[in-house]
Amino acid sequence: MWERSAAPVMSILVAGGLCAAPAGVAPGVVLEPAVDVLSYCISLQLSPKDRVFRANTEITLQVSEGVEEHVSFDLVGLTVDSVQVAGGNVTFRKGATSLEVELGRLAAPGDTLVVGVFYHGTPADGLIFGRNAYGRPGVFADNWPDRARYWFPSIDHPRDKAMVEFRVRAPADWEVVASGRLLKEEVLGSGVKLTVWATEHPIPVYTMVLGAADMSVRELGALGCEVDSDRCVPITQWVYPEDEERASELFRRAPEIVAFFDSLIGPFPYEKLALVQSSTRYGGMENASAIFFGEGVVRRGRGDVVVAHEIAHQWFGDAVTEREWSHLWLSEGFATYLAAVFYEFHGDEALAWRLLARAESSYLASPQDVARPVIDSTPANLMKLLNANNYQKGAWVLHMLRELLGDEAFVAGIRRYYAEYRHGTALTEDLQRIMEEVSGRELDWFFDQWLRRPGHPQVAVRRFWDAEDGTLELDVTQVQSWPAYRLPLTLEADGAGYTLRRTFWVEGSDSRHAWPLPAEPRRVRVDPDNEILGPVTIVGASD
Ligand SMILES: [Zn+2]
Repeated sequence: MWERSAAPVMSILVAGGLCAAPAGVAPGVVLEPAVDVLSYCISLQLSPKDRVFRANTEITLQVSEGVEEHVSFDLVGLTVDSVQVAGGNVTFRKGATSLEVELGRLAAPGDTLVVGVFYHGTPADGLIFGRNAYGRPGVFADNWPDRARYWFPSIDHPRDKAMVEFRVRAPADWEVVASGRLLKEEVLGSGVKLTVWATEHPIPVYTMVLGAADMSVRELGALGCEVDSDRCVPITQWVYPEDEERASELFRRAPEIVAFFDSLIGPFPYEKLALVQSSTRYGGMENASAIFFGEGVVRRGRGDVVVAHEIAHQWFGDAVTEREWSHLWLSEGFATYLAAVFYEFHGDEALAWRLLARAESSYLASPQDVARPVIDSTPANLMKLLNANNYQKGAWVLHMLRELLGDEAFVAGIRRYYAEYRHGTALTEDLQRIMEEVSGRELDWFFDQWLRRPGHPQVAVRRFWDAEDGTLELDVTQVQSWPAYRLPLTLEADGAGYTLRRTFWVEGSDSRHAWPLPAEPRRVRVDPDNEILGPVTIVGASD
């Protein structure tokens, strides 16, 4: 995600027979206490006239060991009219933020059940009804981090990914876009159109979205169609008609960005990619296969770093999802870094370095984040996770890991991490294990010092020229208040007829190194490629 600076009538739809049964769904992560949701099928009707909301969500779930006689979903507000299990009405209890459904003797461990929930009300959040900048109505979901629960009953946590099908009845002159593949678009009469989208892979609940409004749709390109029609990924934009040209300018490089990450990381994970102008509160939100951009971002029509960032999330965040919120850097750090890597390899290396330098400055200028580790389970308010640790420091962790392992092992690790965890969830230790395997190096110290401890190194180097031995003597001190880091420290020396570089391993608070050189250097630069997160300074003769 990228921060930034009328109303519907829903009518109850018949539950039975509308939603496709999930075929061949691999069970995802087993949840405590008792269930693993395999799929949601969400049926609703939208009208621009008023704000009554009626819907039906069918939840297909697998019952795990230890199941009690009830199952609990997240659902905030709204009124539940009835709940059915296996087609029959069951008892339920609606709390302020939950829906508890009695299963009685209906379920045994290993069973797959379908729970149908019929409900209505006005969602206080999550599914936003409003008017756009041009005064026209539209409806857009905006779930991150846990706001799906305001409009459909769910296990609203990234560890329980599931498939989703949306069956949306909306005015026939609206376009409806949602997660997954378009299965049906049918005008039903009375000015109503049924649009059905369904995913073929489990996605995080926070990325399950639909958008419905007067939008113009334009094809931007496609990935892989000429090689393999089964892998053909259409890339489209869905924007307010007034902003069509500016959107095409903003999204101009989207096909190139998709193709780059596809070749760098592994196959694009989804059926299609829609780039959607929406009422999201964020500048961009990486909803799986349907990225939502803020209205203003699209109206400005330039600056595609946000586009690269959100597209990178399709691989990391969406396809490989952080199992716990405290590991959010696996999503935001990856998207932030990979956006810079796109420019590095696509004609704007200077921008890539600027993005990294800017990330370092903004991290260093965030004392509250610096004082906390990246993997931080303390924030009770998930919005506080949108911080310089998960984004900027997370990006730097990947940058430093790449410098440490070299491009070949780093890319092999990223590819294997994606291949192993695609459509699943992962924790930092999963990434560490794979990086250790591909590099043959033990990396506990690296992941520990950069992710599990607060702060960063502050390195001061003093240099002296020993004329007798012809060596440059280096005293390296880590002056930070946090424990010493283990660092590769690169220096570059310029002297008469030579420019040389050397990397010294720094461990401990104070260390001394000697560097034989052909002659006294005129100039010595420290960390010349900016490979260390934190200030690194050098003092000494003629500096
Ligand atoms: Zn992001």
